[in-house]
Amino acid sequence: MSQVLPGDAPRVHDLIGIGFGPSNVAMAIALSEHNAHVGRQESVTARFFEQQPSFGWHRGMLIDDATMQVSFLKDLVTLRNPASEFSFLCYLQSKNRLIDFINHKSLFPLRVEFHDYFEWAAAKVDDMVSYGHEVVSVTPFVHDGAVEYLDVTVRSGEGLETHRARNLVIGTGLRPLMPEGVERRDRIWHNSDLLRKVDGLGGGPGGTRPSRFIVVGAGQSAAENVAYLHRRFPRAEICAVFSRYGYSPADDSGFANRIFDPGAVDDFFAAPESVKSRLMAYHGNTNYSVVDIDLIDDLYRRMYQEKVLGAERLRFLNVSRVTDVEETPGGVRATVKSLVTGEETPLDADVVVFATGYGPADPLGLLGEVADRCLRDDEGRVRVERDYRIATEPDLRCGIYLQGGTEHTHGITTSLLSNTAIRVGEILDSLLDRGIKSTSDEARPVADGTAR
Ligand SMILES: Cc1cc2nc3c(=O)[nH]c(=O)nc-3n(C[C@H](O)[C@H](O)[C@H](O)COP(=O)(O)OP(=O)(O)OC[C@H]3O[C@@H](n4cnc5c(N)ncnc54)[C@H](O)[C@@H]3O)c2cc1C
Repeated sequence: MSQVLPGDAPRVHDLIGIGFGPSNVAMAIALSEHNAHVGRQESVTARFFEQQPSFGWHRGMLIDDATMQVSFLKDLVTLRNPASEFSFLCYLQSKNRLIDFINHKSLFPLRVEFHDYFEWAAAKVDDMVSYGHEVVSVTPFVHDGAVEYLDVTVRSGEGLETHRARNLVIGTGLRPLMPEGVERRDRIWHNSDLLRKVDGLGGGPGGTRPSRFIVVGAGQSAAENVAYLHRRFPRAEICAVFSRYGYSPADDSGFANRIFDPGAVDDFFAAPESVKSRLMAYHGNTNYSVVDIDLIDDLYRRMYQEKVLGAERLRFLNVSRVTDVEETPGGVRATVKSLVTGEETPLDADVVVFATGYGPADPLGLLGEVADRCLRDDEGRVRVERDYRIATEPDLRCGIYLQGGTEHTHGITTSLLSNTAIRVGEILDSLLDRGIKSTSDEARPVADGTAR
């Protein structure tokens, strides 16, 4: 990795990727497959920066029995290139598990297994990525009145480096959401920290501590947390608090599932705003605030069994909300308000887990003054073209592509894996159609005073 010094002419990358989660791993694979089939002049050079020290996909939620919510055929490549050597099937073959997986008769691998697949695939393209590198800012490099390049500043350890690109692809993923006014603390968690935090509690199988958990939320992550804590701490009471009457099942029926098809992105993109809103309302229950029916049935079975046995430690405080939470010496106290009666009840626990969802990282947050050249719609949202490129003022010649944060333009697959393989193929096509230049040219020095 070269540190750019005043007077140095940095190499210009055709593409810099921010983040190296599944979206940008898939992007790197698409580039590597493209480059393997073209001459040097047509090849696309790329560098990806990932803040984590190594590949990691929602590590805090790699619960050992949790399964994927998407078919393994919607892996990083198959929908774009069914013959790819980066497919989940090739991964299984390399692990000598292909026949065992087939006999398993499931489209939905374990989450830990898919994480291992992602790691395996990421390792095959790791010549393109710098781990332990956080992108902290992006600045324009102006030449003849136009932004010709983007300078990407990256923090690694104590030092800063700057790298230059013709195009950016931002794949910075989701951020955990806490209720307003609630901060994560030792005993107030977001579910994204579950496995990282739980080992620090002591107790565990056969132990006497901890004695009570409160899990807030009614989506898939909340239900998984309830089931996991109930199993992991066989003497603890688990209180699930949510405003619904009960968990609602995820609609994964065939017709509804078509909302995740590549063709649905075309339809959504072309549709008027009112139709977009209606589609999200109709089909939000394929993904948002819903739970796999098998898990709902499992939790209900456990609750009923405890009732029969007269040893109830799984409690569902429905039509309720946590209105206050504060740490106490050795624990935490939540105030649970019944939405039926309005009555507020204090509930002491060892830990409160907020499974209150995730939101997209602000796509423009890193762009600084470059964001001023990005166009917005009437509601102030970033305008994005069909090829996932941010619509910009004409004097910004670089392409800035988004993998995530485009639900308002491209629909529900934006933050999911379903369409990743197709999306990165479309981004690559766009880069090539816009005429990526040869990589041998060198830009002016980053420290050029006229450049900013
Ligand atoms: C527990 C859980 C389970 C899920 N299961 C499924 C599922 O089964 N099916 C499905 O379709 N979707 C699922 N999702 C949705 C999820 O968004 C996608 O699976 C996937 O993570 C999207 O990949 P991504 O690369 O866009 O984002 P992420 O996986 O979030 O990756 C973004 C990466 O960018 C890095 N990054 C962020 N900012 C910077 C920066 N400034 N500099 C450098 N690096 C940075 C992050 O460290 C991270 O590694 C799940 C989500 C969660 C939380």
